[in-house]
Amino acid sequence: MSMQRAHSWIGGREDQSGRDWVTVCSPRDPAEGIGAYQEASAELVDRAVRAAREALPAWSARSPISRGELLYQAAEVLAEHNEEIAALAALEMGKPIGEARGEARRGVAILRYYAGEGSRAVGDVIPAADAGTLQYTVRVPVGVVGVITPWNFPIAIPLWKAAPALAYGNTVVMKPAELSSLTAERIISLIAPLLPPGVLNLVLGRGAEVGAALTAHPEVDAVSFTGSSGVGAQIAQTASARGSKFQLEMGGKNPVVVADDADLELAVEKTVNGAMRSAGQKCTATSRVIVLPAIRERFVAALTEHVRQLAVGDPLDEGTYVGPLVSKAQYDKVRRLVHSGVQAGARMLVGGEPPRAKGYYVPPTVFDAVEPEMEIAQEEIFGPVVGVLAARDIDHAIALANGVRYGLSASVFTRDISTALRFVRGIDAGMVRVNEETAGVEYQAPFGGLKQSSSHSREQGRAAIDFYTNIKTVAIRAGG
Ligand code: NAD
Repeated sequence: MSMQRAHSWIGGREDQSGRDWVTVCSPRDPAEGIGAYQEASAELVDRAVRAAREALPAWSARSPISRGELLYQAAEVLAEHNEEIAALAALEMGKPIGEARGEARRGVAILRYYAGEGSRAVGDVIPAADAGTLQYTVRVPVGVVGVITPWNFPIAIPLWKAAPALAYGNTVVMKPAELSSLTAERIISLIAPLLPPGVLNLVLGRGAEVGAALTAHPEVDAVSFTGSSGVGAQIAQTASARGSKFQLEMGGKNPVVVADDADLELAVEKTVNGAMRSAGQKCTATSRVIVLPAIRERFVAALTEHVRQLAVGDPLDEGTYVGPLVSKAQYDKVRRLVHSGVQAGARMLVGGEPPRAKGYYVPPTVFDAVEPEMEIAQEEIFGPVVGVLAARDIDHAIALANGVRYGLSASVFTRDISTALRFVRGIDAGMVRVNEETAGVEYQAPFGGLKQSSSHSREQGRAAIDFYTNIKTVAIRAGG
């Protein structure tokens, strides 16, 4: 693959007026340079926002169907470049190629879904006190939307924010994570030229500068953010202080509960997928497994055996199940948390020292005898690490599952409908799954969390309309 040089995009074109160049290396080998991106200045962010503002009147006045047609074209172009984008994402952030392909296909599906929104009905007709009055609601775009994204879904997350924003008539300035700048730029370079200039803009660079400048810009009407809780809190403060709409999707500490009557094989397979795919770097990754007494011994033995077999390796090898972590910082953080688990007295059943490979590889790790107050039971790890906790019965399991500050996704494995319903009712999670892994919620369904996982508005599916539009209530009284 040739070295990619990525710029910001303003008004439908590459903008080469940025500042320093940042070299991008692959997490599979930190000595392997794969490209570079040019950091934007605050002045460049300002120009991107102005370009989006200028493009707004014509874009929002366009018929939703014609906006949808352009999004269909974007989907087709992305589909043609699926393999290239998947390989770039795998190389840039370490996601195994099979998963990266799936993510690229999802990006296409998201664009098609929101293209279809252009021809779906919106609004309500509401009875009025006066029989001759027509009262109804319409949805109007919010305006210029700032989109700030993390590195862990470098294809899907930028698209699941930008696609609905554009479909509903907004214009966009996107600020992707530093660690996925090349992938984001390649996607924008394919899509932005299909749209009127200024409708979709990209600014590359550091969060604390470029992201902060975008969040604070007085001409940005809404900010949609996915990332860590600390940054989310800062964004909420800045955006609300200037009266801008904002949306936050943040961390998770997602539990799986395995009931005594669970299908053992299914529970093990889905727990492993949920915990270990993307090397655990998913906000919806399974991080805790809470197991009831009668199945405990068999479940833990089967889980351990399954995890021991996982292929750790190069993200571009077809056979790899667990690739490297995205960065040195992420590697150090996960290693520190694994160490804290050992220090606190949890029993490591699989795991141990990283392989002597060049990249940021952490071996898939299973802890048993995890206690609820341990750091590994409370903090988001964002690595291939899962902890097993023991519960007396289903109510105790639900209480343990709820005993964290997050509430993103949660699963139960059971064949008993009463246990399933009890779990669905009692669990504090925005996404509840029965006999399914905690990750993998589909794009056409609402996505988001409770508690500190989210600002409670929902992304994806039709739910996205609530953030990316405002409601206008109209009453028309016939004259005469
Ligand atoms: P991060 O918070 O460090 O960065 C996210 C984005 O915010 C990046 O683009 C970054 O440059 C930008 N940013 C950083 N500081 C900023 C500031 N002061 N102002 C404005 N923007 C700023 O998160 P990350 O390390 O990229 O991603 C990992 C985190 O994302 C994890 O905590 C994970 O749980 C979370 N995540 C959540 C979801 C979800 O939907 N709930 C999905 C994926 C990832």
